[in-house]
Amino acid sequence: MPLLRVPYTDPLPLPKIIPRSANTTSGAIAALTDFLSAPPSSRLKNPRARNGKTLLLTGAGISVASGLADYRGANGTYTLNKAYRPVYYHEFTTSHEARKRYWARSFLGWTTLHKAKPNEAHWAVKRLGELGRLSSVITQNVDSFHPRAHPQLPTLELHGYLRSLVCLSCRNEYSREAFQRQLAALNPAWAAFLDEAIASGALETENPEERRKRGLRSNPDGDVDLPNAPYSSFRYPACPTCLENPPPLLLPDGRRAEVRVDNDGAWVEPSTAGVLKPAVVLFGESIPPEIKMAAEETVDGSSRVLVVGSSLATYSAWRLVKRAKENGMPIGILNLGGVRGEETFFSDVPLDNTGSIAVRCSESADKILPSVVRTLEDLQGMRSIRASAQA
Ligand SMILES: [Zn+2]
Repeated sequence: MPLLRVPYTDPLPLPKIIPRSANTTSGAIAALTDFLSAPPSSRLKNPRARNGKTLLLTGAGISVASGLADYRGANGTYTLNKAYRPVYYHEFTTSHEARKRYWARSFLGWTTLHKAKPNEAHWAVKRLGELGRLSSVITQNVDSFHPRAHPQLPTLELHGYLRSLVCLSCRNEYSREAFQRQLAALNPAWAAFLDEAIASGALETENPEERRKRGLRSNPDGDVDLPNAPYSSFRYPACPTCLENPPPLLLPDGRRAEVRVDNDGAWVEPSTAGVLKPAVVLFGESIPPEIKMAAEETVDGSSRVLVVGSSLATYSAWRLVKRAKENGMPIGILNLGGVRGEETFFSDVPLDNTGSIAVRCSESADKILPSVVRTLEDLQGMRSIRASAQA
């Protein structure tokens, strides 16, 4: 069965903190340290998983400190903008109008994402990798912060990445950064508006309320809502490869695939091919089977999983944690606020658990992970001093 990416917007109940001592910052640091340094659990079903390494599964919450909005946090998109509805795969692939609207918004939103950088939490993840604590990272984020912060530690981008575009006909990928310059050239009035928005500081502030006052709303996929802006005139380029060599495709209705552009190179109807899509898994789109399989293999090859900054609202992420639970892996969750169906993961935690079997804390990753790293470094330092004293 294909795995669709669909949004889930029901409110989530508040978490039950595990162990109870993890309800303070220092208690949470101690519990997470226990979790990450515990020997492999005796309940692990897969022998390949007994390497003691943790899989990190991250979501929008880890990028909030980089100035990006999450979905369900206090300043999240779904919290502040109840009417927010992302573009769906079916709309994007079939409607020229939907694509104009998407690219107009994305044109304005890109600057914020492009200027944003990995934060303390991503650097802590890099360090955890260097300390040998992690098997890899699976992220639901499309901001590329993980691969930028720790290229040596494998990252699987479950929902793709905004840094590239993919052609729906030939599957070639192109740089989003170069595409931004093409959009500016094709849409001079929008480029002027963008310059004004940058000058007004509306794109500088991280506070969605402030942004709104200055006339802009943004969401985690890099979109900005522009009140009363005409999307109908927005232009976007066609795939250069398909333009030069029209794909030898026959469409389901028997028509030949063709690409037409206006005098400036913008895609026009009645083209039937050469449409560029952000290289992300849009809502309503299936996760590519090879990515789904790679994610499952990554889960199966790890001793435990730590969820960071995700409410697991997308089923694709939730089912990976469910799989980990079925594998007998200890589960940890570091997320501000509730997580979908989390009671299932913690139904059998023994009372004497200090964090090594399960941990659930409600803290910001960028505040807490650097301290966990320092504690683990101290522990490893002491161990190596002891080892050299014995030698
Ligand atoms: Zn193409």
